[in-house]
Amino acid sequence: MKEEIVIGLEIHIQLMTKAKIFCQCSTGYIGKEPNTNTCPVCLGLPGSLPVLNKKVLEFAVRTSVALNCKINQVSRFHRKNYFYPDLPKAYQISQYDTPLGINGYMEISLPESTEKRKIRITRVHIEEDAGKLVHEGDITSSSYSLADYNRCGIPLAEIVTEPDFRSPEEAQIFLVKLRSIVQHLGVCDGNMEEGSMRCDANISLRDAKTGALGIKVEIKNINSFKAVKKALQFEVDRQKKLLAEGEKIMQETRHWDESRNITVSMRSKEEAHDYRYFPEPDLLPVKIDLKMINEIRKNLPELPEARRKRFIKDYQIPEYDAEILTSTSSTGDYYEKAASLYPNGKVLSNWIMGELLRNLKEEKKEIEYSPISSENLVGMLNLIDEGVISIKMAKDVFEKMFETGKDASQIVKESGITQITDENELIKMVDKVINENPKSVDDFNKGKKKALNFLVGQVMRYTKGRAKPDFIFEAIKQRVKKI
Ligand SMILES: [Zn+2]
Repeated sequence: MKEEIVIGLEIHIQLMTKAKIFCQCSTGYIGKEPNTNTCPVCLGLPGSLPVLNKKVLEFAVRTSVALNCKINQVSRFHRKNYFYPDLPKAYQISQYDTPLGINGYMEISLPESTEKRKIRITRVHIEEDAGKLVHEGDITSSSYSLADYNRCGIPLAEIVTEPDFRSPEEAQIFLVKLRSIVQHLGVCDGNMEEGSMRCDANISLRDAKTGALGIKVEIKNINSFKAVKKALQFEVDRQKKLLAEGEKIMQETRHWDESRNITVSMRSKEEAHDYRYFPEPDLLPVKIDLKMINEIRKNLPELPEARRKRFIKDYQIPEYDAEILTSTSSTGDYYEKAASLYPNGKVLSNWIMGELLRNLKEEKKEIEYSPISSENLVGMLNLIDEGVISIKMAKDVFEKMFETGKDASQIVKESGITQITDENELIKMVDKVINENPKSVDDFNKGKKKALNFLVGQVMRYTKGRAKPDFIFEAIKQRVKKI
């Protein structure tokens, strides 16, 4: 049987409002003492009543509009009941049959293809987050667990796609683009590693010939962009192997084990939850007037797609560069600030996509915490243009800037790495090399081009790379001809 891959995603994004979804508690829980950002509402104490934070609604509408969804002008909250110590009320307030946004889509571009793929968005709904359990030691052998309810009531938007992905790579491309969109919208910081963007996936294999659907497996705990592709690819291979061996695929939920690079079974369908949804009696249906939706639509900020096109046009850079530079909002901001100070957009994008992003990745740093500011990067490029340092030297200067956070001119001054601009001094060096290497001079005169490179190399060696290669090249050529 020839199989076709069928993947759908469910993404939770943490909305960056100042207050929680149904109370006035602060959402800034990271680094806070456990259980200090709580009140009777988010602790679910009897008699307390939730009140919807209007900002949460606004952020979720903004997200839905950007994902081309139709907005339900009347939507409703439901109680999703389950018992677990991370949820003091024993139910989560979520949306069920009438979510905020429905029937949207997002287009993704695939590498080495001009074709765009349309991924349908089934729904966007809002809900509250649960608390966090901290286990003593390993969860399986832990003698006790601690509950921290600071995260209870943090606003989330859940985005559900149709099963429109045909490869793990497409799912990853979608997620990267979604992150960039929510960042540009200013509704979520998109930090997957810190949990402000979380992704679950459904995956099955369908018979390509008959279209017969396969058994669906859900994967949870995918917490990085790299893991999305790895976890899905593992699952594709696992399911293909089972089918090839004539085995059956079980409908189950599997957990991505990052350290072992495998998915592990968590629970089968028989153990699946019955959430006993019912309408939340403490909250009225949410009514959104058309005016608010139109206002949000009108004031939508520039989205990555438009920004990418503008970068190509305004800064004369290739599509590929623009794609990378707009893949997160802060990379785009960094580039634009630098581009406002420096005329050559392509030189800038080369340095940012090459040296800068590589160093940041190695140090696991986000670009907003880059030790080299846009201004300092431009300062270094100006030194190259002025002939103070060569491109080769600039690489060393760059490394030192990255290590110390100092600007280029300071590093050049302190370490004395400058190009020798005194031409007389360079000519002396050229003459010395010519006198010392008569054989190479002879070879060059006989037409061996490589001999010239050798002679230039010798000058570079004497000057410890501080000579201008173009100048030396010309100088040797002229003098050798005279001999
Ligand atoms: Zn609260």
